[in-house]
Amino acid sequence: MPYSTILHHPHPLLRQKALPVSAEEISQPAFQRFLEQLAQTMIHYQGIGLAAPQVSRLIQVIAVNAAPTPLILINPKIIKKSWRTTTEEEGCLSLPNVFGFIKRNKKIKVRALNREGQPVEFQAADLLSRVIQHEIDHLDGILFIDKAKKISTK
Ligand code: ZN
Repeated sequence: MPYSTILHHPHPLLRQKALPVSAEEISQPAFQRFLEQLAQTMIHYQGIGLAAPQVSRLIQVIAVNAAPTPLILINPKIIKKSWRTTTEEEGCLSLPNVFGFIKRNKKIKVRALNREGQPVEFQAADLLSRVIQHEIDHLDGILFIDKAKKISTK
């Protein structure tokens, strides 16, 4: 399977809003292949997360590099956020060598569809919470540099 090309900032597609995916679409073999390709592209480029708009698809799909298998979330929504926040350094495959410190909610509750189109709801904390918030921002056309303090290049 060929890996997808990752768009780099300032590509205009990175600034668009992604559209929700329908249940019918999720069951299509071509869509399932796209999910696998998104996950494999993330792993190939050693990302801890990747959102569909980063590979030119304006749909609400994110991949998160979780053990033991990549986590795929379709139409993800944050339905609860902790008042507690943490500030950590982030990077992004669409902004190579750029880093910045971002304040995010320490814990979130997420509602989404899994790769089979089944509804899932779960809590995420710390790094997983941060990665999901970063990837959901991509679905809204938001990049971490919009929120970051102390941006640096390495
Ligand atoms: Zn990113």
